Amino acid sequence: MTKYVYFFGGGHAEGSSVMRNLLGGKGCELAEMTNLGIPVPPGFTVTTQAWAHYNRSGHEWPEELWDQTLENLHRLESVAEAGFGDPQRPLLVSVRSGARVSMPGMMETILNLGLNDTTVEGLAARTRNERFAWDCYRRFVMMFANVVLGVRREVFDAEFDAAKSRLGVNERTGRPFPEDVKEQLRLAINAVFDSWFAKKAAEYRRIHNIPEEWGTAVTVMAMVFGNLGETSGTGVGFTRDPRTGDKRFYAEFLPNAQGEDVVAGIRTPLPIEALRERMPTIYDEVLEIAGRLERHYKDMQDIEFTVQDGTLYLLQTRSGKRSARAAVKVARDLVDEHVIDQHTALLRIRPQEVNEAIRPIFDDREKAAAIDRGRLLARGLPAAPGAAVGKAVFDADRAVEWARAGEQVILVRPETSPEDVAGMYAAKGIVTSRGGRTSHAAVVAVGMGKACVVGAAEIVVDEHRRVFEVGGRIVREGDWISVDGGSGEVLLDIVKTVEGELGDEVQELLSWADRYRTEGLGVRANADTPTDAQRAREFGAEGIGLVRTEHMFFAPERIPIVREMIMAVDQTTRRAALEKLRPFQRDDFMGIFRAMDGLPVTIRLLDPPLHEFLPNHKEYKELVETRSRLEALGINPEEQARLEALIANVEKLREANPMLGHRGCRLGITHPEIYGMQVRAIMEAACTVTEQGVHVEPEIMIPLTGTVGEMKETFEQTKRVADGVIAETGVAVRYLVGTMIEVPRAALIAAQIAEHAEFFSFGTNDLTQLTYGYSRDDVAKFLPKYLDMGLVPHDPFSVLDQEGVGEMIKIGIERGRSRRPNLKIGICGEHGGEASSVEFCHRVKMTYVSCSPYLIPGARLAAAQARIKERQAGGGDYRA
Ligand code: PEP
Ligand code: MG
Repeated sequence: MTKYVYFFGGGHAEGSSVMRNLLGGKGCELAEMTNLGIPVPPGFTVTTQAWAHYNRSGHEWPEELWDQTLENLHRLESVAEAGFGDPQRPLLVSVRSGARVSMPGMMETILNLGLNDTTVEGLAARTRNERFAWDCYRRFVMMFANVVLGVRREVFDAEFDAAKSRLGVNERTGRPFPEDVKEQLRLAINAVFDSWFAKKAAEYRRIHNIPEEWGTAVTVMAMVFGNLGETSGTGVGFTRDPRTGDKRFYAEFLPNAQGEDVVAGIRTPLPIEALRERMPTIYDEVLEIAGRLERHYKDMQDIEFTVQDGTLYLLQTRSGKRSARAAVKVARDLVDEHVIDQHTALLRIRPQEVNEAIRPIFDDREKAAAIDRGRLLARGLPAAPGAAVGKAVFDADRAVEWARAGEQVILVRPETSPEDVAGMYAAKGIVTSRGGRTSHAAVVAVGMGKACVVGAAEIVVDEHRRVFEVGGRIVREGDWISVDGGSGEVLLDIVKTVEGELGDEVQELLSWADRYRTEGLGVRANADTPTDAQRAREFGAEGIGLVRTEHMFFAPERIPIVREMIMAVDQTTRRAALEKLRPFQRDDFMGIFRAMDGLPVTIRLLDPPLHEFLPNHKEYKELVETRSRLEALGINPEEQARLEALIANVEKLREANPMLGHRGCRLGITHPEIYGMQVRAIMEAACTVTEQGVHVEPEIMIPLTGTVGEMKETFEQTKRVADGVIAETGVAVRYLVGTMIEVPRAALIAAQIAEHAEFFSFGTNDLTQLTYGYSRDDVAKFLPKYLDMGLVPHDPFSVLDQEGVGEMIKIGIERGRSRRPNLKIGICGEHGGEASSVEFCHRVKMTYVSCSPYLIPGARLAAAQARIKERQAGGGDYRA
């Protein structure tokens, strides 16, 4: 016979902490506390297995469940010395939800169950407090009617007496309000089971990746009352400050009240000192128990307690939610206090948390309050973490202009293109209504460390009127908005932020992490400028894994030369334009090499289709109009000719499918002079700084290789130019020529590719795009629906698809190393900064991961965690 119900009470419990999956967080910890001798009201927990049966069988209970419930109810009656439905000594219970991970406020609870027209009299007599008894009854009827019978809370007037409400309920639901307390219990358990499927719970599960099949347990527990007068009350507390991690009891107390009053925000609790003043012995007892619980669970706890007539009861303990900074501090302090070891501390912190710890973030309460006030405008994909507040602007020029004038701005666009880069840089944050996690806006924003939300589809941007519309609301240029790039929320008005930094605690923790990953993954940065490189180094980068050279082309003084180069009618003119670009590139590379003195720097040759450097759609329209005007007026023939040439070029370069078109090494092969210029600039920079005493390790990287022919051709071409520069300057610089693996075909023929490539770097943005056949820039059109329907578990552009794309990577590594056993292999797609993807990279034995400077702390931690987990599973020792 399956055991579906577990009892706790009278100093002994059938369950314990380790039964979290079966009893839920609340149920298992109540059991654990009971066994620890901590005062907990007695009760029993109906397992998640019972929920699973209920869910599977169309809301039928397992056969044994009712009998087991009644049996445990009897045990509860005898421990509580009261009878369920007994008119003289009525036992009242609470019925609470509890999943294996805490989902605060997402599911239902019913209090004071067991009251009816008879027992209410008994309660009044026993407590000698008629008002209290009827108030309990009123609360129960309201809660039961709302949660179990589906009557909206608002229909109850606070002054309703119980009888009146009960009649109201009968009329409204067409079913009688159950007088039979056992029937109340059965219905309440069902309602809590069902609350797993409430909209808010489903939404919460989606955001936190909680599987639907986990379900909830139900805990039925004897009621204790904090509202019995001045020697009663209710409190909640954290064993450490959840905002800072400081070691102090961070708690609140409300005399003569039930926990629900605090949760529902009906009454504002007082600082915990209120308890010390009123009931000093209870205060000491709470403090002693809080300390005991923290030592027992070896982590900061979040506790709930009730004082009933001078007696203390613990109602809940759980690992306390905390800010990123607090998470780091608490873990580090617990190591200092010899409560946990370094491994445990490192495994306990989410890599995302160390990244968040270094950025400004929204004050949680402020944001929640703003959402409560209805200020949430839209939710999109959280593309680049961070909190940004600024005035909405709708084009890059305005962003730059206003930022120069000292304004904080948020750039809101339907989508961004490389032309918007300056505006993005000037902005504090970026919002787009289209685009996925690796759309232009997302990739650039992550690189810049800007908070960014993409694919906020409800937002309709009207660039011309300089407004956006969302759900009937109009936000105008200059209106303040707040953007949470970590959660994807866009809010109206200013939400307060708190500053982040790589403080001492984070530094120390990361130094432990580095020690444990000595044998594992290296961590490099994707950085395009000396400033980014410098920042990356401060965050602990051990080199650069990707310099996207095209970003250097977009500076305002360079764009005209780039256009000249693209529009050149012959090789000579093109070479002349390229010659003008070379010094710019050389200077950039010198800056990066200096910042990365002693560390490898991987520089990728030009990748995007050339038309990206030409006028965008809007500018193009203006060009055509100007040309027509000049033509009609018959004036300024030179300008007419210039415009003519520009228009012809845009037409010539237009592609139906640019992502699959003339880009990457295809460009280098059809225009060898472009790659030639870039290689020359790289090597000249390397030779110059070497002479100045800087140690450089350039790694020249060919993008989008798909055939051996492409690899061989570009490899030889690169070698020729590079060796030529070395011969000219007489400075010996060791360099490598390698390739990105981002076309599936390249992964499949990696053995042959490795004949001509000295390193590999997986470009998983393109590799994901090409393996799935999902356009990086259009994926937001269907991805949210796919995620909702569970057709894909995650956005594959942010969390590496290990099953498909990962298989492609494994093949690429195995085949590449079959030809070159020591082949250096990295990853430089956005996945290089995402924890589960980093763990995968460790498992498949990559040499390093490369990610945005701002994700480096998290990647260092994730790499260490991967190594520690491997070791715990029996995978070798550390060299540290
Ligand atoms: C990639 O494709 O993963 C990559 C790093 O290149 P990009 O994002 O510039 O195409
Ligand atoms: Mg790519």
